[in-house]
Amino acid sequence: MTNYLYDGVFAPHADSQKIFLHTPDGDISYAEFTALTDRIAAMLVATGLAPGDRVAVQADKSVMLFALYVATVKAGGVYLPLNTGYTAAELDYFLGDAKPRIVVVAGKAEAAIAPIATRIGAALMTLEADESGTLRDAAMSHEGPFSAVPRDSEDLAAILYTSGTTGRSKGAKLCHRNLRSNAAVPRGCWRFTADDVLLRMLPVYHTHGLFVAGNLLALVGGSMIFLPKYSADVALDWMPKATTMMGVPTFYTRLLDHAGFTREASAHMRLFISGSAPLLAETHRQFEARTGKAILERYGMTETNMSTSNPFDGDRRAGTVGFALPGVEIRIADAQTGAPLPDGEIGIIEQRGDNVFLGYWEMPEKTAESFRDDGFFITGDMAVRDADGYISIVGRDKDLIISGGLNVYPKEVEGMIDAIEGVLESAVIGVPHRDFGEAVVAVIVRSDDALEAGTVEAALADQLAKFKQPKAILFTSALPRNSMGKVQKAELRKAHDGLFA
Ligand code: AMP
Repeated sequence: MTNYLYDGVFAPHADSQKIFLHTPDGDISYAEFTALTDRIAAMLVATGLAPGDRVAVQADKSVMLFALYVATVKAGGVYLPLNTGYTAAELDYFLGDAKPRIVVVAGKAEAAIAPIATRIGAALMTLEADESGTLRDAAMSHEGPFSAVPRDSEDLAAILYTSGTTGRSKGAKLCHRNLRSNAAVPRGCWRFTADDVLLRMLPVYHTHGLFVAGNLLALVGGSMIFLPKYSADVALDWMPKATTMMGVPTFYTRLLDHAGFTREASAHMRLFISGSAPLLAETHRQFEARTGKAILERYGMTETNMSTSNPFDGDRRAGTVGFALPGVEIRIADAQTGAPLPDGEIGIIEQRGDNVFLGYWEMPEKTAESFRDDGFFITGDMAVRDADGYISIVGRDKDLIISGGLNVYPKEVEGMIDAIEGVLESAVIGVPHRDFGEAVVAVIVRSDDALEAGTVEAALADQLAKFKQPKAILFTSALPRNSMGKVQKAELRKAHDGLFA
């Protein structure tokens, strides 16, 4: 038996001297990257990792971190990346829930995480942005070659936590088949070949930057310009060496804000791809006017990897996410009954295919609720399909906020605000923001008029990741409610629509 994901995607490149990663600190060949993953995989197994064990990681983006993901898969483990913005209090839940065998964090978090690691019986290692730390020290005392541990197509490869609307985050279980198929499908759709050089500036704790970008380029034997984070200046420096870029809409609005981003600056690029949040039709139009190139917008989610895409050849329509990818069945259905709706009617997107995850980690009831009897996954995204088959996402049924490409569930933020002394109740909404797409805004009814915005901000600072903290805190005398007592969030959003205009 082979290791289904590793052998299918990361198996040694025919030309081992070819450059896999270009970084500001130098180039790394396929052979060097494989040697690094061999050392880490051997170290993980020596530390006690057995097939199916989780490796949970919260660390800054580095080549070593990317290698740790590949090594975990190679060693038969299950990779569990965590957003670098999560606080120790948030990590406590994730680690307690997933019970990893090995936990890797930055040195500054070590003291706070050590008691949690002890409680769950996990080995704790450190990894810094400059790649130093105990993980590196331990890996360097091991030598390859390391034979990939056999894993089947249905075995788990990763768990990615998605924030929960009901308070608890859910771990989406992704198997080897999910991830391998989601590299193979876009290869053809987007015409990726070994000649491609991808500008990879996305974070690697999220499906977009970790799997869509990393797995695809490894599969085709291409190269990546691997950068720690996004900046328009740095993107422009590297663009003449790149052929493709994957980004969230914020990447594109920031490029458009940069005077240096011209038709010439983007001349070497054959494809710009956007996903993870809605790309404004206006951004799409401005981008095409500036560069002569139409951004290819696609849609996906943690649970389903990539699902739809605008066409490579043909009309890339602004404001739409295109068609279902090959092998992905998509239906737009009545949210209550699941009955398919005719084109032109708004309904919930449901999906079935190799891309769709196995279910939520140790949440059989949540998993059962999320699937129809015929195996379709209920995404929670509301959409409409036009007469030409193009799908447009019109909203989300659960009031999810997407700020800078990251998901914020209002309920979680509201719960924390409501616990602050002097707060009667709160409503957290997403308000249009040119840079972030949506900005988190808290509308609060006070029980004590002396309560100030600064007190609320201070109370949330250690509790919530920065991207979830409100960009504005507003006070009101009462929240708008319907006759059933439900807060009318749509009305609130309308009232504060122009806050960041
Ligand atoms: P995540 O699980 O973090 O990848 O977030 C998934 C959610 O992002 C989806 O359920 C959609 O609501 C949203 N999303 C992803 N891509 C797009 C897109 N191209 N247009 C609109 N919404 C998107």
